[in-house]
Amino acid sequence: MSKIIESIDYFPAGYCTSYTGLLFKGVKNKKMTFPAGVFLIKHRDKGYLLYDTGYHYDIKTKLRYGFYRLGTPVQMTEKDQISYLLEAKGIKPEEINYVLLSHLHPDHLGGASFFPHATFILTKEVYEVYQKPKLKDLIFKEFLPTSFEKNLTIIRADQQDSTFPYRPICDLFGDGSILVASVDGHARGQACLYLPDFNLLIAADLCWGIDLLPYTKQMHLIPSLVQDNKVDYIKGTEFLEEVLKDSIEVLVSHDPVERIESILYEKNNLS
Ligand SMILES: [Zn+2]
Repeated sequence: MSKIIESIDYFPAGYCTSYTGLLFKGVKNKKMTFPAGVFLIKHRDKGYLLYDTGYHYDIKTKLRYGFYRLGTPVQMTEKDQISYLLEAKGIKPEEINYVLLSHLHPDHLGGASFFPHATFILTKEVYEVYQKPKLKDLIFKEFLPTSFEKNLTIIRADQQDSTFPYRPICDLFGDGSILVASVDGHARGQACLYLPDFNLLIAADLCWGIDLLPYTKQMHLIPSLVQDNKVDYIKGTEFLEEVLKDSIEVLVSHDPVERIESILYEKNNLS
């Protein structure tokens, strides 16, 4: 049987840096570079869906984002923006029919304005944060296209589905190809995608990286304060552990490029 999801591509659209010793207790201190991952999903009938949009170059260059860069140093050039990365693959922004933003932090919504024609998709909880953001939510609405609210679809992850029994989901296109769960913790209602064709969960910022998952419970106070809700954040990592135990592959937004590329290579070509 042919797959509904034809392919999943990946683009690192900018990077931020931190130190393991700043994030976690009891680990060797080393500088880490975290890519802002963007996933391009090709659906047989619906065309291209983009999961997150990476950073906008303005975050690196404009004075007004200085306070953000203080906590989260950004490394990128103009050509690391998702619009350039897609063009290099021969894909025009107009070809992207859907943009699903997992949550609205600057490394996820930064490139949104490149897609004024797309239908944007948010979970109900992310939309509620959008309507009444706190300073800590770090929502820079200037990175959204002016057509954003007009082109917006809000989804509710409230269906039980035996394909993914861990959480209530929203069957995005009603064909079982993309199941969206809404997970609190790092940010409220982050959209995580389960793709049954690939036996793969793409899990936003549920942790810093799958290889760092074992250290999550040793997180230092400052990075833990950045989380929207620390108790829910830990629950989210337990959810990931449960899914991994059942041999579902998991990718998170800030996983290393090599890890994501090798898993997707295998999923795209061998499964
Ligand atoms: Zn985030």
